[in-house]
Amino acid sequence: MSRVFSDPATTSYGAPGHPEAPFRVARTAQCPAAAGHRIEKPAAAAAPEDVALLHAPDHFERVRRAAFDDPDTPAYPGIAEIALISLAGALAAAKSAAAGEPAFSLMRPPGHHAGKSRVAGFCYFNNVALSCARLLEQAPSRRVAIVDIDVHHGDGTEELVRGRPDVYFTSLHQSPLYPGSGLESRDNCLNFPLPPGTGEAAYLRALESALGAALEFKPDVLAVSAGFDTYRECPIAQLRLEKSSYRRIGALLSQTGLKRYAVLEGGYAEALPLLVENFLDGFFA
Ligand SMILES: [Zn+2]
Repeated sequence: MSRVFSDPATTSYGAPGHPEAPFRVARTAQCPAAAGHRIEKPAAAAAPEDVALLHAPDHFERVRRAAFDDPDTPAYPGIAEIALISLAGALAAAKSAAAGEPAFSLMRPPGHHAGKSRVAGFCYFNNVALSCARLLEQAPSRRVAIVDIDVHHGDGTEELVRGRPDVYFTSLHQSPLYPGSGLESRDNCLNFPLPPGTGEAAYLRALESALGAALEFKPDVLAVSAGFDTYRECPIAQLRLEKSSYRRIGALLSQTGLKRYAVLEGGYAEALPLLVENFLDGFFA
């Protein structure tokens, strides 16, 4: 069995011309349903205490009061509460994975650029890192590997987990590109900067290297920051993956044999619903 968590409440914000738009969840949610996956709302809500697992103690409150200024990351009305719903999806997916059922959180806003004390790059709370922190708090002997396949470096995730002995982080991303980090590897963080124009063959080779390193860490759970902005028609990046590439990516992740879950990060092309469907075909196999 596999599980898909989503909530239509996360389609309730947006701004004209902003690529991180409601269709990303609204239209994509129809695809797993068509493929026979039941879409569930997370059974448990997320709370400010979940945000404080890794973010600064005042981070939730600063987001709630709109006390931040990032041109990419607007202070939409109610965004703190909506971002908690997105976080609840990641927490539910992590819990499902740990119990042996692969899962996907189909929510927005994304999270992997959110750092200890900052919103950034359309992200408010770091869904993937916080869900890993919750898993590790519940079972301190656990080890978790995070694989970030979004086209942008997961700089917020790296900031939040660097140096932890119980987490391994590896990111594949276009360089040069926002946010400009992830050019070097250090401590428990392994980065694969890829030049603009990178296609499927080179991408999958890099992913195999990343997964090989992640497996050497002997994780109990694999968490995936699943961005789909590596697609060749993505309006804000220049990698050249095909629609079918995502089935192969999902399959490589599945073939690790690890307990696993993925959370939606970026992906701004019209084809996003099909890209996610292909990914889940492989990831849930
Ligand atoms: Zn991205």
